[in-house]
Amino acid sequence: MNRRNFLTTLAVLPVTLRAQEGPPIPDPVEKMTPPAKPTIALNHLGFRPHAGRKTLVVRALASPHPKEFTLEDVSERPFRFTRPLAEARSDLGPCLTADFTDLDRPGMYQVTVGREHSVPFFIDEEVWRRTLPKAVGYYRYQRCGVEVPGVHPACHLDDARRRDNGQHVDEVGGWHDAGDLRKWMDVTMLNGVALLNLLRNFPEPRPGDPTHAQILEEVRYGNRYFLKMQDTDGKIWADTAGGVNGDNSDNHWTDNVIGNADDRYINTEKRSDIAAVFATLQGLAAQCYAKSDAAYASQCLEAGLRAWKAFGPPEPTLDCAWWTLAACELFRATKDPELRDHALLLVRALLARQNTAFLAHQRQVRGFWMEGNKPYVDAVYSSFPPLALLELQETFPEAEERQKWIDAVQLHLDEYLLPMAERSAYRTLPLGLFVGSPTPETYRPLAGDLTYRYFMPTRKQFWWLGTTSHLESNALLLARFARLVGGKGKPYVDLAYRQLEWVMGANPFAACLMTGEGMRNPYPHSRFVGLIPGGIMNGIAGNMADEPVLDLEYAQDWRTCEYWSPHVAFYIWANSVLEGIA
Ligand SMILES: [Zn+2]
Repeated sequence: MNRRNFLTTLAVLPVTLRAQEGPPIPDPVEKMTPPAKPTIALNHLGFRPHAGRKTLVVRALASPHPKEFTLEDVSERPFRFTRPLAEARSDLGPCLTADFTDLDRPGMYQVTVGREHSVPFFIDEEVWRRTLPKAVGYYRYQRCGVEVPGVHPACHLDDARRRDNGQHVDEVGGWHDAGDLRKWMDVTMLNGVALLNLLRNFPEPRPGDPTHAQILEEVRYGNRYFLKMQDTDGKIWADTAGGVNGDNSDNHWTDNVIGNADDRYINTEKRSDIAAVFATLQGLAAQCYAKSDAAYASQCLEAGLRAWKAFGPPEPTLDCAWWTLAACELFRATKDPELRDHALLLVRALLARQNTAFLAHQRQVRGFWMEGNKPYVDAVYSSFPPLALLELQETFPEAEERQKWIDAVQLHLDEYLLPMAERSAYRTLPLGLFVGSPTPETYRPLAGDLTYRYFMPTRKQFWWLGTTSHLESNALLLARFARLVGGKGKPYVDLAYRQLEWVMGANPFAACLMTGEGMRNPYPHSRFVGLIPGGIMNGIAGNMADEPVLDLEYAQDWRTCEYWSPHVAFYIWANSVLEGIA
């Protein structure tokens, strides 16, 4: 069982996968802990001169520890300085740190510690922004149903037949979701949500940015498939080619001929959360295409409204968050007061799920979200409950309770995320909180009965994966809150960038997880088309001891090295917000 059957989150793990939970299988990936060198953990892209702090982390492996580092401009020597390294108390191994935020002189630099050189990096306003065309371009490589020159010929023109009755339905198109050929709905629709938010956040693109025409064309390409996945009752089918019994059987090229044995299947299951992502995307599309193609905008809006009307009140925390986002986007497209009333009901459900008292006999953290009687943990949509509140306050700026929503998010950030980030020198956010030790492996004690892990448990079920989307979706949340509070937002901007920096090289492996940027990229688990520029991998996961693991040995490990849509989507979305912050 070395392939992701993938899905997605603990909350929506398909029944077929749950049935496979069982005794742990020892896995070589769990031994793939950081090598002795390099020890310098530094974002490979570099830093904007005045946004976010500039932090150097050095793993303190050698004894005695190095005492200082030298920074040098590699293009215009002899600019250089030497400064001390400080010992840092840190989870994820002993570290030394230094801060050179005061250096705002644009240039191309390199850090040296002892005999070890860092990857060269820039201090430049464009270090993040210039990666966005690559990230947006990733989706073109993932197009299904059309030839992608140089990547693959036209594929899956025979998609697909219904699982329930075998009938063929035209589901050609969309995007392959990951390092495979399957077309899951929720996570590939997230691509469209992120791209249209990029368009919204870059109302006047600069030369070199992805253009509006490019974004609109890419989203329309994916959305042609999404619209075809809506059934006559307004509900949305779950996937095409996801695999019939939670297996990998549909993950293959086909002969493009309809009606023979290699045709793939449509999963006609209709889930509330998938419909909510659909409604969000269509509400966004209705706004973003209104000027350029009013007829298409109306078609999207009508489809989104039909999905919204087809479902009753959501139950799981994540569903509440997604339906809140959907209500916001549909309201923005229609100004329909019924949608506003609906959103206000959803926000009550969301606020009721926030832990405002101190849980589990401790007084250190609160403000996190709950799923039933446990802290909410989701490896993909980690930040969505508070993110939905931020969307609400932007959509309904006149709402009486607006300040209450903002206060709820601030509590989450100030009394949960920020203190948790202090526990490691990298300042990456642990995946989540737990009560006790739900599975037989390391849960780090926090206080009272509360524990935490940086990485997904490995003994809960056979599948677990890296935390790229968890980190990036929190970067998005922090960035949006910073944008809201203006001059008081600096600590949130700093923390947002630390999450993204981990993905781009400031991690114990000194590995950049985006193909085509940085150095020491793992080879991706991308078994059909290989390297895709701008693709981002599942990333660093943890072993039983909650120590970081990453496949740098070409072991084709999907848990850490597979490309996946949400990582690219959150990267684009988070950076589109951060770019608007001076
Ligand atoms: Zn295809």
